Amino acid sequence: MRLAASCFLVLGLSVTACAAGPVVVKARRMFDGSSDRLTSPGIVVVVAGKIQAVGTTAAVPEGAQVIDLGDATLLPGFIDAHTHLAQEASDDWKQDMIDSLRKPVAERALDATEYARKTLMAGFTTVRDVGSWDYIDVGLRNAIRDGKIPGPRMLVAVHAIGATGGHCDGTAGFEHGLFGKETGPEDGVANGPDATRTAVRLNIKYGADVIKTCATGGVLSLTDDVDTPQLTQAELDALVDEAHALHRKTAAHAHGATGAKRAIRAGIDSIEHGTFMDDEALDMMKARGTVWNPTLAAGWWINQQMERGRYFPPEIVVKARQAIAAVNATFKKGLEKGVKIGFGTDAGVYPHGMNAVEFGLMVNLGMKPIDALKTATSVDADLLGLADRLGTLEAGKIADLVAVPGDPTVDIHQTEKVLFVMKEGVIYRNDRAASAPAAN
Ligand SMILES: [Zn+2]
Repeated sequence: MRLAASCFLVLGLSVTACAAGPVVVKARRMFDGSSDRLTSPGIVVVVAGKIQAVGTTAAVPEGAQVIDLGDATLLPGFIDAHTHLAQEASDDWKQDMIDSLRKPVAERALDATEYARKTLMAGFTTVRDVGSWDYIDVGLRNAIRDGKIPGPRMLVAVHAIGATGGHCDGTAGFEHGLFGKETGPEDGVANGPDATRTAVRLNIKYGADVIKTCATGGVLSLTDDVDTPQLTQAELDALVDEAHALHRKTAAHAHGATGAKRAIRAGIDSIEHGTFMDDEALDMMKARGTVWNPTLAAGWWINQQMERGRYFPPEIVVKARQAIAAVNATFKKGLEKGVKIGFGTDAGVYPHGMNAVEFGLMVNLGMKPIDALKTATSVDADLLGLADRLGTLEAGKIADLVAVPGDPTVDIHQTEKVLFVMKEGVIYRNDRAASAPAAN
């Protein structure tokens, strides 16, 4: 069922009320997604899922439903450019391993619907999901798009593409032959430029909106060093060339500087993690406008888990400690150089719905709160190729709108307390209307 504009959805139940006409959302302050300061008050007029008017003095159309959120700040719906909605790490690494071998695809897909709901309710109305299994991302994206389940609008990558035995080869670390035949391009594992092209084509054939690659080793994989380059220059050149030819943007998981530079040289659109990038890599990104998603939330969470004494295999602990020790200094250097920083968190490594912690982590390392807010709105909309429809509050754009209490430029952690969520004109959350049976 496709929900009409301005319905109030009670999650898990049904639509209880739908306003037929325009909806006006007001709050004391507003961030439009690109300006350097908030405006006051904030007024957004929504008609048929789109923003019709926005400003401090926008007129209220006759018969409009008016929602006044009081002491709150309106913002464009948040975007997270690095999620994994088909998975979520628990507190028990060994149990997660067993579950990954035991759970049927249907059960994992149903789990994913819960992760998608939590993400949306935290104010993230769009995500770029950069690596999945069993086409769960494609199914989830389609079900959300068709209004069957609540969740963020998704751009999906299908399989992340990497080398045999690399970070994106899910069979690395297991007994030879355990999963039958060796992994190949149909699993996102490719060796040689022709094979990476094949992997790109297969992903797009089966539903990819974006192409994700693993240019270096990773923290949570079992058999590689975290900083090793894992694809050659020729392989990355072919991958990016093929993706761009087929009108798909590209993202590269890259911790080490050598692999990151190969990806940047190949024309990658974003570097994910970027933990050990050196001056040359950061300068190359700055010169080319390559976006960097530092995924600070992932390291923050794994560090906490280790401090709590949670078990990780010793080889992962060593890599995690190296990455956590390096990323803050790299972030500060990138910020100083003016590298374009996006908002990507690696949700799934930590529990879904906590995505907004990334704002506070970036501000702690010196980013201005207003610039942190831009990363998850206008910067990410541009990275996803959706700047004409999303990322700012402007007339004509899709009505994705969230509100947080107080002023997030004074306390960035207000972004972790989202109280209102509208996606395409449909209200999924309004905590300030909690006492009423439904908004109407
Ligand atoms: Zn990731």
